Amino acid sequence: MSLRVSSGAARVVLAAAEAAFPQECCGLLLGSVPDDFDKIGRRLFADSARELTNGWEASARTHRYAIDPLAVARIEAELSGTGRGIVGIYHSHPSAPAWPSPFDLERAWPCCSYWIVSVREGRAVDSRCWMRTEDGRSFVEEEIYWEERP
Ligand SMILES: [Zn+2]
Repeated sequence: MSLRVSSGAARVVLAAAEAAFPQECCGLLLGSVPDDFDKIGRRLFADSARELTNGWEASARTHRYAIDPLAVARIEAELSGTGRGIVGIYHSHPSAPAWPSPFDLERAWPCCSYWIVSVREGRAVDSRCWMRTEDGRSFVEEEIYWEERP
């Protein structure tokens, strides 16, 4: 199972993660939704990324993020009928590893890839990707990669 990301989307995510430091950034990954979207082992391609405002209260944005449901509804309406949809969610972990927290697990949507960027001293140093298991009790790691821009 894997998440391939366009180089354009990767640039958006990594730049957002660094710019938000020491707070968390968050946003959506868009791409075509495969028939086996809900199956462990699927391969996804995110062709673009949409940065969203971290809606969590300011004092705790260093370790929490919240996605605005209205922003999600607007993007879903925009993509309706195109075969594309929200295939993943990205956020950053400032001064922390790119492993999902219990909070991430509690709030994880089914099927979506969760790309977590670890940021140390303002630099994106690690990227890992996760998918929630069907029973919602854990994450499994997915391979994540993108082509560097030549
Ligand atoms: Zn997290």
